[in-house]
Amino acid sequence: MLQTSFSYDALPMRVRFGSGAVASLPDEIARLGAGRALVLCSPEQRGTGETIADALGGRSAGVLAEARMHVPIEVARHARARAAELGADCCVAVGGGSAIGLGKAIALEHDLPVVAVPTTYAGSEMTAVWGLTEDGRKRTGKDPRVLPASVLYDPELTLGLPIGMSVTSGFNAVAHAVEALYAPDRSPITSLMAEEGVRAMTEALPAVAADGGDLDARAKALYASWLCGACLGATTVSLHHKLCHALGGTLDLPHAATHTVVLPYALTYNQPAAPEAAGALSRALASPDPARRLWDLAGSLGAPRSLRELGMAESDIEPIAKQVVDAPYANPAPVTHDGLARLLRAAWSGEPPS
Ligand code: NAD
Repeated sequence: MLQTSFSYDALPMRVRFGSGAVASLPDEIARLGAGRALVLCSPEQRGTGETIADALGGRSAGVLAEARMHVPIEVARHARARAAELGADCCVAVGGGSAIGLGKAIALEHDLPVVAVPTTYAGSEMTAVWGLTEDGRKRTGKDPRVLPASVLYDPELTLGLPIGMSVTSGFNAVAHAVEALYAPDRSPITSLMAEEGVRAMTEALPAVAADGGDLDARAKALYASWLCGACLGATTVSLHHKLCHALGGTLDLPHAATHTVVLPYALTYNQPAAPEAAGALSRALASPDPARRLWDLAGSLGAPRSLRELGMAESDIEPIAKQVVDAPYANPAPVTHDGLARLLRAAWSGEPPS
């Protein structure tokens, strides 16, 4: 049924997509009126960062290969200081959510525009959400200044993303779209993007898992991650993301793998209370039970399916349930302590969602 009452704030997004798109980086920097780009990446992607900096020649201010998951405050402080010392007037963040998150942390303080070159499917490049971790607590906020000014999606840069990480990162993207379908601020536009994002990602992942060098499958997955990221940027998240935030922030569980494990259980919890979202997901996944279909797909692609195998202790179930029930937020199904404890216990043991 068409949603007949909604509001929709489109974020200003500039995207260049395609094999070899990264070659247009100098043009994108010039378009911003900038001329000294600090290239940000994770230590593991220093080689990619240096190749990009070399290609920028005189437009490069250097490479900072220090991005880390959840943006520790000391990493952000050091990056801000380096950007100032080097006279950078923009940042190029190449990598996953960690590198883009570091670019956002610099933008938050120094107002430098970010050009994002995503190499995972996490979707941070499409949102104005920043995160910083201090004393073991992750703070997040929204600020239009951190939204990348330009995004270059180049599937060639994703060919080296390990298969396991590709699959879990793909599920991370699907989770954004799933929650956008029942978000309180969804609209027909976000629902279109979400349904197509889920369809494209779940079609692409088996092909990526079979051959990580399949450029067409990589392009499809990256296209899907754009759609799913745009959903995340335009809507408010619910139970699934709150659970993953608590599990990641409190127990330091790996981001994308946690999303992969939790999604089928969070969806099982919510889908009876969100029939239109369930209908869209049934179409996208060609299954009458989208939650079970996602669980089966994760298993067939060799992804983790239990929180226990990610390192969570059974004794963590109660405190996490309490943490997530105590913070109020919109969710299609009522969030109760017993309901969450049951959900977490099933996700912890990895039993089929039901
Ligand atoms: P990540 O950025 O930490 O990357 C994981 C690892 O994969 C890193 O070692 C990285 O160097 C490597 N890698 C990335 N791309 C590669 C490639 N193509 N080839 C080889 N190696 C590659 O992981 P992520 O899952 O993309 O991001 C997670 C972080 O992003 C979390 O901190 C999460 O909270 C944040 N995030 C934020 C938002 C937002 O809107 N603010 C959205 C999604 C995720």
